[in-house]
Amino acid sequence: MPARPSKDEYYLNIAREVCRRGTCLRRLYGAVIVKDDQIISTGYAGAPRGVVNCVDLGRCLRQEMAVPPGQRYELCRSVHAEMNAVIHASRAQTLGAVMYLVGIEKDSGQLTSYSEPCLLCRRVIINAGIAKVVALNPDKGIVHLDPEEWIAEENQAAAKGVGMPGAPPVALTGMEGSES
Ligand SMILES: [Zn+2]
Ligand SMILES: [Zn+2]
Repeated sequence: MPARPSKDEYYLNIAREVCRRGTCLRRLYGAVIVKDDQIISTGYAGAPRGVVNCVDLGRCLRQEMAVPPGQRYELCRSVHAEMNAVIHASRAQTLGAVMYLVGIEKDSGQLTSYSEPCLLCRRVIINAGIAKVVALNPDKGIVHLDPEEWIAEENQAAAKGVGMPGAPPVALTGMEGSES
């Protein structure tokens, strides 16, 4: 008989099943939000309700243009799994909760190495008051992520004059209300 899964494994297994409902051609993500040992919300990456999905359209512009991770999210039609999970719960529910996140490559079905939330989802997770994100990485295994560290990274980036962690510096000249 297989060993009894740990709590992390248990919820990550559920997140892996959730991601199979994803509708993007590039990667499938599934998120499960847990509080007090209870699943309060799930979400997978998919187009907004009523909007045609990447899979139905047969194309995802981010995939076609081979956009590197972290850029041009608007080219894919999907609402990210983390965002969907958060909007299906109230803030009172997500406050102090744990989010479990799994992503797989659509082509290979293997775990994606881009296993951590994107910069936009990090902000959503921070505002939802989620205390911890547990992700599954093909090389590192189960990874525990602390949203407090993302807040520190954003503030460090802001102090250096860049918009987002890892983003190139933004020229702020000409934004002080010049008439031209
Ligand atoms: Zn897509
Ligand atoms: Zn995201």
